[in-house]
Amino acid sequence: GAAGAVTAESVVGLSDSFPLCMQHLHSQLARDHHLRHGGRMQLGLFLKGIGLGLQDALVFWRRAFSAMTDDQFQKGYAYNIRHNYGMEGKRADYTPYSCHRVIMSNPPGPGDHHGCPFRHFSSERLRAALHKDSLPDPEVREVADLAQAGHYQVACTRHLELRLLHRRQNNQPQPDADIRLSAVTSPNQYFDLCLGCTK
Ligand code: SF4
Repeated sequence: GAAGAVTAESVVGLSDSFPLCMQHLHSQLARDHHLRHGGRMQLGLFLKGIGLGLQDALVFWRRAFSAMTDDQFQKGYAYNIRHNYGMEGKRADYTPYSCHRVIMSNPPGPGDHHGCPFRHFSSERLRAALHKDSLPDPEVREVADLAQAGHYQVACTRHLELRLLHRRQNNQPQPDADIRLSAVTSPNQYFDLCLGCTK
């Protein structure tokens, strides 16, 4: 995880360093003031993994679910959040999902936002998401082609390499060697590698 405490307030600022799956969940949550179960689990355990503690998680999700009453939140959602932190039920300490799990387990249905964009988005939708990230056309094509060929984690890793390369170029505008990382295995590992990289 990242150094230093992550608070309910600091999540927004850190979201620039999220992988596409978590950026998507975070933006859909902001748009709808809600996420269905699969998305809450995927994003919630990721946030736990980057250092969001239980009390801050309760504040974060309460604020995000701004369209419901406190009573609805307490009855329908607070238990699950405490459960993810091992404070209810079996008291198991749940860990964030790996990319493999996100890619291989239950695919998102209509209204769901969990999953891996490199696996579960249509090609057009993935390209649009990559364009929004201000990647130039040839790089969008390169990443989208890898996803299209079924190399989801390689595509995600290439996306990260290109984001890091552009950050480096923004800091020192001169031709620079490419960046090559070994394949990302979890959204949390992506976050640790990307922390601070600008769009
Ligand atoms: Fe998220 Fe992993 Fe998919 Fe990247 S490859 S978008 S980190 S699930």
